[in-house]
Amino acid sequence: MTFQTRINAPRSGSAVLIAGGAGFIGSHLCDALLQRGHRVICVDNLFTGTTDNIRPLLNHPNFHFIEHDVREPLEIDEDVNRIYSLACPASPRHYQKDPIGTMKTCVIGTLNILELARQKGARVLQASTSEVYGDPEIHPQPESYLGNVNPIGPRACYDEGKRAAETLMFDYHRMYGVEIKIARIFNTYGPRMLENDGRVVSNFIVQALRGEPITIYGRGTQTRSFCFVEDLVRGLQLLMESPASVTGPCNLGNPHEVTIEAIAREVLSYTHSDSPLRFEALPKDDPKRRKPVIETAERSLGWRPRVPLKDGLQATIAYFALRIATDAPALVP
Ligand code: NAD
Ligand code: UDP
Repeated sequence: MTFQTRINAPRSGSAVLIAGGAGFIGSHLCDALLQRGHRVICVDNLFTGTTDNIRPLLNHPNFHFIEHDVREPLEIDEDVNRIYSLACPASPRHYQKDPIGTMKTCVIGTLNILELARQKGARVLQASTSEVYGDPEIHPQPESYLGNVNPIGPRACYDEGKRAAETLMFDYHRMYGVEIKIARIFNTYGPRMLENDGRVVSNFIVQALRGEPITIYGRGTQTRSFCFVEDLVRGLQLLMESPASVTGPCNLGNPHEVTIEAIAREVLSYTHSDSPLRFEALPKDDPKRRKPVIETAERSLGWRPRVPLKDGLQATIAYFALRIATDAPALVP
């Protein structure tokens, strides 16, 4: 199999809109699209994103930032032919802070994005999630698996919100012919994660660098499969520019599955830290195992991750080490 590196996106006068472009994944996507010569409109309400992530872009002639909440309708004057719909807090700590707001972002926000896509004749890619599989009963998870989500638990605002967003995408596609792409993103990590957003990779790295205890929830035997952000951003662009018939859902993630305790030990080794492990209570509805089947992405996009966990962790450690060494203020809005 050959793996594509070329992404044939149109470079006409039309812009690419990235909702959630000031966030972790969105800001890397802004960088990548600008580097390839696109005009980029970044829309974000800065709930979990920050202008620090896009500060170097603010004076770029092809970059335009609009502070806006997608729960309100969007009016954009210029032509837009691609919309990446990433606006939504992704960390459990943040999406559970305002669960009703999270559900509204997923449902009303996606509706507003789809209305914009319909009005502009733009193609839209929705950042969905492996959380649509809930605590999966089959392993690994192919796109055909319909999931095992607790609809009334503390994670439901996000999981069910993202499921509803997928439904809206397909209904706009069937009813109005909007061109859609659904990416089911698995755990992604890398530079520009927030140091205190509660996700495991950023938590462990910051704890190890500061010599604080590494907080393992449960026994640490639960698994995740971690994808480096650079691989993910390449996958999102390939999916966006794939033939119109490829709607997804398409899993994007790294099939290399590791236990949470193993991640802790790798982080300790690469940071040369002697932080102790501290075992804490497992949060409710925490999925036990997660690993993507990526045959759809391999077959239809020629995509698979390239960055090994060791290299990705070391790049992420270097990012946080620099922030800590320069005493940069925590990137929490
Ligand atoms: P993030 O929290 O860093 O980025 C989300 C961005 O959306 C932030 O900049 C935030 O300010 C913005 N936002 C939130 N609500 C908004 C609203 N109502 N209006 C406008 N902007 C809003 O998270 P991320 O990790 O970059 O995730 C990006 C997308 O990818 C999200 O949709 C998330 O659900 C999805 N995703 C991420 C992961 C992951 O591991 N990072 C996994 C699966 C899915
Ligand atoms: N986790 C942990 N310690 C932490 C943060 C998270 O053990 O400090 C665990 C968490 O319980 C889950 C896994 O790591 O089993 C991944 O958590 P994260 O919030 O990063 O992602 P998600 O649960 O949404 O996949």
